[in-house]
Amino acid sequence: MKSLIVKLIKLFYHFITRVKLKYKFRESNNSTYIFDLDNTLYNTWPYLKENKGALYLEIPIFEGMKNVIYSLPKDSKLCFLTARNLKFYFQTKKRLELDFNSLDYDLIIVDNTIDKIRYLKFFVEKSDNVFYYDDLSYNHENGTVKYYLDTIKEVEKLPVEYKGADVINVINSI
Ligand SMILES: [Mg+2]
Repeated sequence: MKSLIVKLIKLFYHFITRVKLKYKFRESNNSTYIFDLDNTLYNTWPYLKENKGALYLEIPIFEGMKNVIYSLPKDSKLCFLTARNLKFYFQTKKRLELDFNSLDYDLIIVDNTIDKIRYLKFFVEKSDNVFYYDDLSYNHENGTVKYYLDTIKEVEKLPVEYKGADVINVINSI
């Protein structure tokens, strides 16, 4: 029963999100910038490893990536696209409000990394240029970094300018 309710909530959430996006992107726009959160904009893995049970609200932001976001062209659209448990929606939203209070953006939370592709396809359809920053990696806490190769393969098929872990790490080391 509980899992059915969770499923329905997620369906409802994605339905509402699509409606909102369709409205916002009713006229095709020039550029859309999409950012992942964990290990792209926020320094998630070392913080959660050292602080068991810490909140997403507390994770330090990467100043390098924050500066990139604040320097985006004013007429572009900004979207945060993250694979997190939907139960952290309000915490994630609150955190973005604290860090990007003066900017206009959308937040999309998906269950699994591969689910990001569906939304990326939407942005590709609605924008002339899509820039996508996402490390698409995991397992840092266990010492060997692994990549979401299936997702990366799908991203590479899309006409998006993809910035992966190599670029992100350079931006965040400044
Ligand atoms: Mg990430």
